[in-house]
Amino acid sequence: MKGVLIVISGPSGTGKGTVCQNLCKLNPNLHCSVSVTTRAPRLGEKDHESYFFFSENRFRDLVEQGAFLEWASVYGNYYGTLRQQVEEKLDKGLDVILEIDTQGAEQIRQSSLDAIYIFLLPPSMEELWRRIKGRGTDGPEAIRQRFASARKELEEIWKYDYAVLNENVPEAVKSIEAIISAEKCRIRKDMDILSRYFKEGEQGDLPLY
Ligand code: ADP
Ligand code: 5GP
Repeated sequence: MKGVLIVISGPSGTGKGTVCQNLCKLNPNLHCSVSVTTRAPRLGEKDHESYFFFSENRFRDLVEQGAFLEWASVYGNYYGTLRQQVEEKLDKGLDVILEIDTQGAEQIRQSSLDAIYIFLLPPSMEELWRRIKGRGTDGPEAIRQRFASARKELEEIWKYDYAVLNENVPEAVKSIEAIISAEKCRIRKDMDILSRYFKEGEQGDLPLY
């Protein structure tokens, strides 16, 4: 059975990166997709781990080659998900998390891929402001820009399947794990377990016994 694709969005500073890293550390079947970006690395970020840090020219070449499953311009930089990386992992049966903005999520909706869409919420706008500032990685202009975009991002919440509150990280992680578990029980033609009861290719038609 193919893996499940999980899209996680939410305003900058909500804790998407923190929650996704914890999810992937705790669940070996879960792969956090590494995006390509043209923004400069922050202190402590590692190339090929946090992001693939590429030049704008290299990013544009990849766009022309159709290498991206989705891509967008966010806060003045380009970000994109490499198609091959995601498809390979899903085909191997791994679940894949895409931590992407709302424009990217819309492109996945328009694609042929099935995905679960989760919107991560901060406890309040005041706490969001504290988290963006407290992260200590962005200058005043980047902080202002990210907070100003939060309202626009929030307006997209209605397009998502689930809203998860990130009041504390372990609780948010548990909620997302529960969502993924439920999704794995959803009836699908390629469910391994169904081959115990139905002839291959005839699920729903001819029981074996
Ligand atoms: P995002 O990826 O959504 O931009 P980050 O994961 O970088 O957000 O988190 C922003 C800041 O908030 C970081 O300093 C992180 O340690 C902190 N943070 C994340 N989740 C929580 C939480 N539940 N409670 C308190 N602080 C948090
Ligand atoms: P940051 O610069 O804080 O790491 O990320 C800024 C924003 O870009 C976040 O909203 C994040 O979700 C989004 N982002 C990160 N990677 C991708 C990607 O591959 N595609 C899209 N569309 N957005 C991304």
